[in-house]
Amino acid sequence: MSSADRPSLNVAVLYPDLLNLYGDRGNARTLEQRCAARSIEANVIGVGIGDDWSSEEADIVLVGGGQDREQRRVQADLQQRGEDLRKYVDNDGVVLAVCGGFQLFGHHYRGWDGEIMEGIGVFDAVATHPGPRIARCVGNVIALWEGETVVGFENHGGRTYLNEGQQALADVVSGFGNNGGDGLEGAKVKNAYGTYLHGAVLPKNPRLADRLISLAMVRRYGPEEANLAPLDDSAALRAHAEALHAALSAGESSLGRRFA
Ligand code: GLN
Repeated sequence: MSSADRPSLNVAVLYPDLLNLYGDRGNARTLEQRCAARSIEANVIGVGIGDDWSSEEADIVLVGGGQDREQRRVQADLQQRGEDLRKYVDNDGVVLAVCGGFQLFGHHYRGWDGEIMEGIGVFDAVATHPGPRIARCVGNVIALWEGETVVGFENHGGRTYLNEGQQALADVVSGFGNNGGDGLEGAKVKNAYGTYLHGAVLPKNPRLADRLISLAMVRRYGPEEANLAPLDDSAALRAHAEALHAALSAGESSLGRRFA
């Protein structure tokens, strides 16, 4: 890339009006800001049901969480995009899929009413809601990702189980993560990241945000773009510390919940 060209990244947010729980749209905003601070243009677009869009136009795909009802509404449209999105991931496309979006990027999600919603099988995982009588997984989460803490807020009835060989994204330190039993949080396939963390997750976890940007820059412009200029992260790190504090001050009950 010549120095005269301003690099740019296309960020596609799938179903922004339907899958956007607990501030998930903040993920796009964070990517936009962290790109702008480095003179990378981030073009954020929303992709709704029936929109004419292909992942060839994308450098980063975001999908957020939603209630079962909203997941059901997007399911058929997402199915139609399944082959395209699987190819995109195979081709090192960058994805962040959160909670309800994460569930639909697995093989399927069996919702609270017992009905199956087919997923697109990016992640080798299935999600099952044990029914309305069983408590949801709610609270602040701390997980260990590549030796560092990632923090976020979770609120899900569904429990995700990774099939053998499917890598998790992180290990739960406090909170439930995928299912409250196996200590795993999220999933990772190539450059596709799935997680239960809302919050939104990227504003509080700048290293994770930069990982997505760096992967997208390398894919689009080549390996020399892997290292991003450091930014002043003091505000983001304060938010991170506060989320750590909130999770830890929930005390033993929070730590014990992991095995609930
Ligand atoms: N409806 C899904 C569940 O309850 C996902 C919720 C979410 O995205 N926070 O598990």
